[in-house]
Amino acid sequence: MKQSMMLIPTLRETPSDADIKSHQLLLRAGFIRQNASGVYSYLPLAKKVLQKIETIVREEMERAGAVELLMPALQQAELWQESGRWYTYGSELMRLNDRHDRKFALGATHEEVITSLVRDEVKSYKRLPLSLYQIQNKFRDEKRPRFGLLRGREFIMKDAYSFHASQESLDEVYEKMFQAYSNIFSRCGLNFRAVIADSGAMGGKDTHEFMVLSDVGEDTIAYSDESNYAANIEMAPVVATYHKSEEDLVSLEKVETVGKKSIQEVSEYLNVDETKCLKSLLFKVDEKYVLVVVRGDHEVNDVKLKNYYDAGSVELASPEETKLVLGCSIGSIGPVATKSEEVEVIADQAVSSIINGVCGANEEDFHFTGVNPGRDFSVEQFLDLRFIQEGDPSPDGIGKIVFAKGIEVGHVFKLGTRYSEAMNATFLDENGRSQPMIMGCYGIGVSRTLAAVAEQFNDENGLIWPTNLSPYEAHVIPINAKKEDQRLLADRIYSLLQENNISVLYDDRDERPGVKFADSDLMGLPVRITVGKKASEDIVEIKIRKTGETLEVNFEKLVETIS
Ligand code: ATP
Ligand code: MG
Ligand code: MG
Ligand code: MG
Repeated sequence: MKQSMMLIPTLRETPSDADIKSHQLLLRAGFIRQNASGVYSYLPLAKKVLQKIETIVREEMERAGAVELLMPALQQAELWQESGRWYTYGSELMRLNDRHDRKFALGATHEEVITSLVRDEVKSYKRLPLSLYQIQNKFRDEKRPRFGLLRGREFIMKDAYSFHASQESLDEVYEKMFQAYSNIFSRCGLNFRAVIADSGAMGGKDTHEFMVLSDVGEDTIAYSDESNYAANIEMAPVVATYHKSEEDLVSLEKVETVGKKSIQEVSEYLNVDETKCLKSLLFKVDEKYVLVVVRGDHEVNDVKLKNYYDAGSVELASPEETKLVLGCSIGSIGPVATKSEEVEVIADQAVSSIINGVCGANEEDFHFTGVNPGRDFSVEQFLDLRFIQEGDPSPDGIGKIVFAKGIEVGHVFKLGTRYSEAMNATFLDENGRSQPMIMGCYGIGVSRTLAAVAEQFNDENGLIWPTNLSPYEAHVIPINAKKEDQRLLADRIYSLLQENNISVLYDDRDERPGVKFADSDLMGLPVRITVGKKASEDIVEIKIRKTGETLEVNFEKLVETIS
């Protein structure tokens, strides 16, 4: 493409409202422009990169057996009411009314639409498993849209959904999707980790996030480089040192129930909403006071709905203590239903399990990942209990824990029957019995991935695109296009590269060389071909953007040199 025909509005100055590299450079290099807060136009260069990322995503999705479709962004409120999320998703969901005053939402995600589609079209186990995906704009009215494409209010997502007749089938496809995600982010050249994540909001269990390691990431992850262990810190891996021998154990009789603390006081210690603290009990264990709180992360109007309640403890120096000394979650029960009448039951269960000495989750698969001991341990076994820290041994016993900031670029999730049950998406099994479909969902932030790549690959002069994602592979720049020998050679190179399927941007503008080179560095195409003084001898200079390495090449050798 000739640059004179493009729209690449580069900027010399760093825009004052952009505080991270990728945002600054994508603006300066003329890749994006903001329309409204968190809403962007992707200009021609960015569109090219998006297409390359999407091609990788499509190839890997098809390889994982998922097929593409496209669903509406405009979604009827009735679907969201069926799943219940109309009431729980909060103000992140963009809502609107049509001319007949019917309510709609702009798709923040598509579980509801796809579940209703599959429920109507698939009736038999013979049609399962089925994996479908789309690449589409999503709308979320983020509280704090920022960092350019990293957190937009309208952004591009690849979202896939799988439907199964059995848990084993879901496990199999989840594994394939996990592999596809690893392939996608590797092919994008990203330094990432797949981390164990919190399944709260969606109400399933197995879930992993794909995190690009970057100082501008909004999540913190704990991982070990020696092993495969990696977790989102939200999972609050707890490190416990505990009595190992029988004689170390404090007998249950010595655990004295001291009383309760007011919910108001407790919520102040824990710095959580009062409505989240459901019950509190104070124990005395060896001269230490341990306050046990039953907590329900049950926010309705604003943030996530976490469908579970759990018990947590704080150690107090005295029963009067009002300052938080040490805090951690020591047990978790659930997920459970969200109905308010069930809260009391859960609270009672949690308290009685603590009194009876079972503080770890006492149900398979509900214990914390990374906690040692993981489950069925008793309150009197603890010597020390705290959140995992850098330098701690990895919970899998291999290597030491390091912390890093991460950008969540992808998320895979075993949903189970959360949506199929609520929305009555059933199939007939081999015995003719009706069963709810078992589901998985898998998202990638396509526009966020573009920004993550830009964040990882740049220098003080601009962006540095990996060849397979670059808008064009080569940038041809005649130093002075008014000189006929330079223009003619540049024209010949432009044709030559096109004939050889090497995508090329040809800077045919009437600009000073300094401007052309600065723009070229900003844009960051992998190979620059400068046509200058030696044009009459058919000799050009090649410069590799990434290394700064230059060499002179004859026209005859050009294609073999750069390909
Ligand atoms: P975050 O924790 O960053 O808010 P999320 O967990 O809400 O993300 P998911 O619902 O898991 O996001 O959506 C799937 C993917 O969509 C995310 O992994 C991320 O890559 C992308 N994504 C989510 N929100 C945004 C956003 N506001 N802007 C750009 N990409 C986003
Ligand atoms: Mg979010
Ligand atoms: Mg997240
Ligand atoms: Mg997520």
